[in-house]
Amino acid sequence: MKRIVILGAAESGAGAAVLAKLKGFDVFVSDLSAIKPQYKQQLDQYGIEWEECQHTESLILTADEVIKSPGIPEKAPMVQKLRAQGTPIISEIEFAGRYTDAKMICITGSNGKTTTTSLIYHIMKNAGYNVGLAGNIGRSLALQVATEQFDYYVIELSSFQLDGMYEFKADVAVLMNITPDHLDRYDFKMQNYVDSKMRITQNQTEQDAFIFWNDDPIIKRELEHYKLRARLLPFAEVKGNGAIAYADEGEYVIEQPTPFNMEQDDLALRGKHNLYNSLAAGITAKIAGVSDEQLRKSLSDFAGVEHRLEKAGRVRGIDFVNDSKATNVNACWYALESMTQPTVLILGGLDKGNDYTEIYDLVRQKCKGLVFLGVDNKKLHENFDSFGLPIADVRSMKDCVDACYKMAQPGDCVLLSPCCASFDLFHNMEDRGEQFKQCVKEL
Ligand code: ADP
Repeated sequence: MKRIVILGAAESGAGAAVLAKLKGFDVFVSDLSAIKPQYKQQLDQYGIEWEECQHTESLILTADEVIKSPGIPEKAPMVQKLRAQGTPIISEIEFAGRYTDAKMICITGSNGKTTTTSLIYHIMKNAGYNVGLAGNIGRSLALQVATEQFDYYVIELSSFQLDGMYEFKADVAVLMNITPDHLDRYDFKMQNYVDSKMRITQNQTEQDAFIFWNDDPIIKRELEHYKLRARLLPFAEVKGNGAIAYADEGEYVIEQPTPFNMEQDDLALRGKHNLYNSLAAGITAKIAGVSDEQLRKSLSDFAGVEHRLEKAGRVRGIDFVNDSKATNVNACWYALESMTQPTVLILGGLDKGNDYTEIYDLVRQKCKGLVFLGVDNKKLHENFDSFGLPIADVRSMKDCVDACYKMAQPGDCVLLSPCCASFDLFHNMEDRGEQFKQCVKEL
């Protein structure tokens, strides 16, 4: 019997284990950290062998194929050992893709993945499609393939998942943008990360669609080298240069695959970046055959996604906005770009090789103060001290919100859009956003 070993037992690993077990493989799950109770229970329920807080070589190196959690880096010693002996290592999405004929709608990009994925799901679900939401959000694709019968999946894919995908094909591939992110996992070589993102198009045929941001210089450059067979559906902020979807004189316009338009003001999501997300989602919906009426309704009643430019409250005329998900500089750029009030900006956390020069102009134009929330704020000081803005250094969310409150006046906005990962002071970006909202409530 073919032996499948799964490294990492969180959502994707536990789901892959269940699917592998149901498909009759000899399955073993190993996690170097403690496995969460809910996943242990899931593994036990299906009679799957597992270990935690260790990797037992004799049980792992005997695998015919390994499914690796996207969180485990290539440099991990066990991954290196498996590579050295030539064991194939794939991602959970690759594995799950083997066992379903459902149409795959896949979304990747450095920023905008979750928003666009959630919006596409919202549109299709409301239009009555039998659709599942998978990948980085919701339940794992593998578990859904094992236990459900969906006709469509809307899947958010990170570069780490794409790295472990070989035969998988997206029927609709959406690439929002490519800007530097996670370079620590790509030997600090941008091209490695770019190559990973471009894998979203691999194996696509004439029957498939590739939707992408037409104004992204990196995507543009890459497309010169790729001979893609899929139908190309580029979107952009304005008409021209071959874009088939754009905004034009206050109208949101889609030309292909079928024409559609609506008032831009009626879109639920605000800001330039969200126009892109709404365009990508709209094109996808049209490919799936969603009616104009349904699309118009869903684009205008989408509630947005938590921790993405989320309104966190107004206290004494000061607005607080939670954009905790902005864990890279480009995301913060778009958040700042959408600000219409004088802004106190919260930056800081774990820097992933950030180049802050990208936001210099917007910080000068929009910010009236900066609050650095991190264990090590040295790089932020090096970048922003010369701007002459008031700056506060803080190490807890309570101190952070208090400092912002002192700096801001009625009519201002306090924006948490930190450009950095959260793990120095918080469990994750959700924890950072929740604490922010809680501290605002307590003001
Ligand atoms: P991801 O899942 O790729 O991290 P999200 O949809 O969660 O993306 O958005 C993360 C942050 O990135 C948002 O808070 C916003 O500031 C910014 N953002 C969202 N969409 C885009 C986009 N299309 N282009 C650039 N930045 C964006």
